Amino acid sequence: MDCLFCKILQKEIPAGIIYEDDQVIAFNDINPQAPFHALVIPRRHIATLNDISTEDREVVGHMVMVAAKLAQQQGFASDGYRTVLNCNNHGGQTVYHIHLHVLGGKAMGWPPYQDKL
Ligand code: 5GP
Ligand code: ZN
Repeated sequence: MDCLFCKILQKEIPAGIIYEDDQVIAFNDINPQAPFHALVIPRRHIATLNDISTEDREVVGHMVMVAAKLAQQQGFASDGYRTVLNCNNHGGQTVYHIHLHVLGGKAMGWPPYQDKL
């Protein structure tokens, strides 16, 4: 399977891995949008949020737990941070292996886009 994030998982492509366990890994985003910007991904290849099944509930919950753990470790958990999971074209997904963005270290605006509804 030609998946960039599976290649990072297999260590075929280098990435700044900051956390790993039996279910997920986390690594620094190559094009950071905040002082801290990491991606938490499941070891199992799941293409999009639409492809999550009942058996993935635990790993998806674990991804969120790891995001919170990283924020604690980085020291910005109480100031706040943002997690994002983009799905498909309109969601801005570019890599089709689900990944939870964890962004922190600065105040971020909301809503993210000001386009007309
Ligand atoms: P998406 O737009 O799919 O939600 O997010 C994909 C993210 O993966 C982007 O933030 C992009 O910068 C990041 N990314 C793309 N290619 C690589 C890569 O080769 N290495 C790393 N570390 N991040 C990547
Ligand atoms: Zn994959």
